[in-house]
Amino acid sequence: MKRTFQKKVSKNTIQCETCGLVKGRCICDYEIDINAPVEFWLLTHENEFSRTNNTGRLIEYAIASTRVFAWSRTETPSQMIALMDDYDVYLVFADDRDEEKKRVKSYEPSEKKTVFIILDGTWKEARKMLRKSPYLADLPIIALNPKSQTSYDLRRNKDQGHLCTVEVAVALLDEVGAIKEADALNMYFEYFMDRYHDGKYEHGGTNDQTII
Ligand SMILES: [Zn+2]
Repeated sequence: MKRTFQKKVSKNTIQCETCGLVKGRCICDYEIDINAPVEFWLLTHENEFSRTNNTGRLIEYAIASTRVFAWSRTETPSQMIALMDDYDVYLVFADDRDEEKKRVKSYEPSEKKTVFIILDGTWKEARKMLRKSPYLADLPIIALNPKSQTSYDLRRNKDQGHLCTVEVAVALLDEVGAIKEADALNMYFEYFMDRYHDGKYEHGGTNDQTII
């Protein structure tokens, strides 16, 4: 699904067509190419494709092996399901309920390449995605217990206690011992946050890169 960003800037500023941020204050000049020892597949809620504050796309931009599959209530991501046999697949989710707790497995390297499926949406959307996707029901869950609070502050209804999508990937890279790669992705995330705020404050208007 192509990303077409919501119109988020005032009349006096131009929005970058590629990343959706204010032109001149956007992230397209940042060069990043991380070679990760594991893969990330984003199962992205259809609403996320137009959100300028979506951070799943930072994983996609930074790590070339990343795949993005669109999630909708009515369609099964058959392309993703077809690929799953070739990988050691984990679903990334919280383990705060018994239902998920009994599916938790720790990461172990295996002969097959590891892939982490991340549900890319708000926390509420992610819960719904899990509930409505039978093809995720048998996957082992890798649960993150982040040591630090989220730094993400671009949404009004912050998902308390949960990391945003790119922070999840940073934590997973740490988990598999790819510390340098985790740091590089985290720096990119910080750059995105700075740029996002710059775009908002530089032009003063409340409509610029508005926090939704
Ligand atoms: Zn851009």
